[in-house]
Amino acid sequence: MTILAVSPHPDDVELGCFGTLARLARDEPVIIVLMTSGEFEDPAIEREREAQESAKLIGASVEFLRFPDAGLAQTANAVGQIRALLKRHQAMTVFAPFGEDTHQDHLATYRIVVSSAAYTKEILLYETPSSIGFRPNVFYDITATLPIKQEALSRFKTQADRPYLDPALIDGQARYYALRLQQRGRAFEAFSLYRSVR
Ligand SMILES: [Zn+2]
Repeated sequence: MTILAVSPHPDDVELGCFGTLARLARDEPVIIVLMTSGEFEDPAIEREREAQESAKLIGASVEFLRFPDAGLAQTANAVGQIRALLKRHQAMTVFAPFGEDTHQDHLATYRIVVSSAAYTKEILLYETPSSIGFRPNVFYDITATLPIKQEALSRFKTQADRPYLDPALIDGQARYYALRLQQRGRAFEAFSLYRSVR
């Protein structure tokens, strides 16, 4: 079953769920869908190249939808494009940003995905650097894939000065969830379950 990971910008899925995607990609095809190419501050061509390099690390493919960065909206066109991708790939699991977020593109991506995915069996929401009140209730052990997550994030050279890409934060967050789960010495990514049909 194909997995769709929907990212408002290049680097959001890497931050929110790349360790999990790396795990799942061993058994199932993973497609990273970029709603925008992050061209508001850096050239799209560079940011798309970084996203491709990152996806290649886990053998994922990338779909570039090229909606305007900082101007993404829940339009019929955007919903239709995600719906078409879900149908074409028969994706049954979708990752999307958590539904409360101060960034308008993240919020729009959440709305677009949940409006598109009425028949999707599993929707998992990942945390972004601007999520508000994130409520995790699903956890994936990423101890084995945390190095590849760090490697992926290091590919985003145009974003290297962003504090939220600091490897110490990525590591600390994964260890924080592990300790909260009483799993000392391990690493986790956390998700908020929107829907699961089993
Ligand atoms: Zn973003």
